Amino acid sequence: MLIDAHVHLDKYADLLDQVLQEIEQKRIFTVATAMDIPSYLELQKIGERSELVLPTFGVHPRRAADYADRLQEIGRCIESSPAIGEIGLDFHWVKDTNTYPAQRKVLEYFIAAAREQNKFVNLHTKGGEKEILDLLEKYDVRRAIIHWYSGPMDILRAMIQFGCYFTIGVEVLYSDYIKAIAKEIPDNLLLTETDNPGGLKWLKNEIGMPTAIETVVNALAELRQSTPEKIESLVHLNFVRLITNDPWLRESCTILAKSQTG
Ligand SMILES: [Zn+2]
Repeated sequence: MLIDAHVHLDKYADLLDQVLQEIEQKRIFTVATAMDIPSYLELQKIGERSELVLPTFGVHPRRAADYADRLQEIGRCIESSPAIGEIGLDFHWVKDTNTYPAQRKVLEYFIAAAREQNKFVNLHTKGGEKEILDLLEKYDVRRAIIHWYSGPMDILRAMIQFGCYFTIGVEVLYSDYIKAIAKEIPDNLLLTETDNPGGLKWLKNEIGMPTAIETVVNALAELRQSTPEKIESLVHLNFVRLITNDPWLRESCTILAKSQTG
């Protein structure tokens, strides 16, 4: 089964019906990450429409400044969410340094909750890679997906050592640096994503549709001298390992077990 471990389904507007159809048709297990509370509420509704969609709550670093004084509200949403994301730090694209303390405060709150409630996290790390690894270590949060990693190679290796999973996305088609990262990730920590619909929009000004995940799988197969079938199966098994015995994700485990590809 194809796995898209980082998608923003609430951003599709009119295309949503078509997107859900594609997800069902191609059987793409989809982790639907939130940007903030309204986005999460929307994703919960979307999640009711397909068993292949897993809505998760997070506050994106871009939105953190608005939530730094609303931790209790965040806490209630975390409790209702089976996993956590999108969360993280962005000291690269977010230029307003005044937001950095808020980003740190909100992220640490989420990481502490992930530890307490034993939920996996989906992380945006742009420019904050080392700090994020330090936090994961501090709270001993072992089940972490690092989304669209593009940071320094030494931190990548340290994150691999720690056991983080990594989603490779559409940029693997265009960037030599991302290709190098995609080769560095060991078989057992490799996952796939699209970051739809924005990932392709950012790279090529195209709205990313769910089947974009197939182009990622194909690119990985070529890079890693494998086949698309083997990459799909590997990623499937990795995602199953990530969520096995997770009391919040029994239903997802069952769905994935039913369509074991290898
Ligand atoms: Zn994202």
